[in-house]
Amino acid sequence: MIRYPTDEEYASYDGMHCNVKWSRLSHDWQCPVCNRNKRQILQWGKRVGSNALRYGSIGWKAGLHTHHDHGADIGRERFSPTLLCGACNYLDARLKRKAGVTGEFSFSPSEMRECLILARPNEKIRDCDIDFDRAKSIYSALSLIRASAKDRILPFSPAL
Ligand SMILES: [Zn+2]
Repeated sequence: MIRYPTDEEYASYDGMHCNVKWSRLSHDWQCPVCNRNKRQILQWGKRVGSNALRYGSIGWKAGLHTHHDHGADIGRERFSPTLLCGACNYLDARLKRKAGVTGEFSFSPSEMRECLILARPNEKIRDCDIDFDRAKSIYSALSLIRASAKDRILPFSPAL
């Protein structure tokens, strides 16, 4: 069953391991991929690691991650580092796996938004909420652009 935080629960949530990022964000911040606000990215469930030890094994949790372009590691940055909710940061990995991405590549926040059909408040993003075919077509279109570049360097190949 999906739980929604009460006003009191939301007010008392401190961000746990993302405490600094959480406290610096305004209440009306919205994840640029799923458009959910701080209250809506809270999920009730099992905690792991240091969060579980410090805050208890079950309760509210919300990830905040700075999503960066792995292409930047090889001088091919397509977007600036962007703060996303934990579910959307994980979405990039899910899209890459299904699209067969190899090498240093990340979907940009706007590309991820194109692949996200639906994000429900206080819930995980399900496979049925994701348009994996869209991710494949975005990736293959970018691969073709890179492959036709005059330097003829094949894109995103770990064998470079
Ligand atoms: Zn999000």
